[in-house]
Amino acid sequence: MKPFIYQRATSLQDAVAMLAARPDARVIAGGTNLLDLMKLQIEVPQHLVDLNNLGLDTIENIPGGGLRLGAMVRNTDLASNETVRRQYGVLTRAIVSGASGQIRNRATTAGNLMQRTRCPYFYGTAMACNKREPGSGCDARNGISANLAILGTSDACIATHPSDMAIAMRALDAEVRVLGAEGEYSIPIADFHRLPGDTPHIDTGLRSGEIITAVELPAPLGGTHVYRKVRERASYAFATVSVALVAQVDGANVAIERLAFGGLAAKPWRVEAAERRGSGTPEEIARDAAAIVLEGARPTERNRYKIDLAQRTLHAALIDAQEHSR
Ligand SMILES: Cc1cc2nc3c(=O)[nH]c(=O)nc-3n(C[C@H](O)[C@H](O)[C@H](O)COP(=O)(O)OP(=O)(O)OC[C@H]3O[C@@H](n4cnc5c(N)ncnc54)[C@H](O)[C@@H]3O)c2cc1C
Ligand code: SF4
Repeated sequence: MKPFIYQRATSLQDAVAMLAARPDARVIAGGTNLLDLMKLQIEVPQHLVDLNNLGLDTIENIPGGGLRLGAMVRNTDLASNETVRRQYGVLTRAIVSGASGQIRNRATTAGNLMQRTRCPYFYGTAMACNKREPGSGCDARNGISANLAILGTSDACIATHPSDMAIAMRALDAEVRVLGAEGEYSIPIADFHRLPGDTPHIDTGLRSGEIITAVELPAPLGGTHVYRKVRERASYAFATVSVALVAQVDGANVAIERLAFGGLAAKPWRVEAAERRGSGTPEEIARDAAAIVLEGARPTERNRYKIDLAQRTLHAALIDAQEHSR
């Protein structure tokens, strides 16, 4: 690890001023991703600005019936908050499916949204990777791509987005609150994470010098909430495919209210056209929605299996919804 300056911000204004003064500065929250990247010298900030003392760790009601989740709320505290568990169950289920208890105790709301891809070639510093080193190429495309993206890819990058929490937030239509030199504003989560295009090194719409202050959830949707994650082992593994689902259940029939997929693309993958198309058996609804969601998929030979797996995971999630609503 290279030497760096570490400073604790004493106010939000202080944090923004420190970032503005040092373009090579980075924010540190729980450190569970950033420190790993620094040890591998994939990220080499000269200056770290710690946000841990700014009181950004509260969950508050907001006008209109929604919730404001502070940027520094720990994943464990967010998942176990009673309002979140009762009214935004898909979020609790997504968070507890991720990482491990120890990591969730440390990881934060903002850090989780900002964590970088788990493409093995991004971490393998001897490999070509346009995300790590723009213009160097992409060794994953003709390499071990079994766990990489099939939707929204580009010739430059086929990495997936790693966060489970973000998939649920996309289904819930969250807004990311951002503070920069010009004040605080919102980025809809739909626009927060970016597809790779020709610039895969840019993961999000957050601009240099800006910090996330909170994530806002709109008023609860109701319905039955499910997060189903398929992964290589039962814990401590990122999603191969995941489904964040809010469903309406009426006996043997189900209808999709909200649906977002993880593990398929460089951002949480939601296709609104697959939602609210009427009710049917889980099999009928999964077949219909998967055809819409997976249209235009560009798998590699090694990850073609994700097309079937995505439909089956959705089918299983719809059955989960039936079981949860009994
Ligand atoms: C072994 C292991 C398994 C894991 N499994 C999963 C999993 O299954 N699912 C999953 O979703 N995650 C998983 N994770 C990832 C984990 O959830 C993230 O490391 C964690 O959420 C990052 O949060 P943090 O607060 O520690 O962020 P940090 O490491 O502190 O920061 C991460 C990034 O966010 C930026 N940042 C942090 N706060 C702000 C802010 N307020 N404003 C602007 N930028 C900010 C930092 O500058 C940095 O770039 C796993 C991690 C490990 C190590
Ligand atoms: S898929 Fe993206 S992150 Fe992975 S090697 Fe290629 S450019 Fe890098």
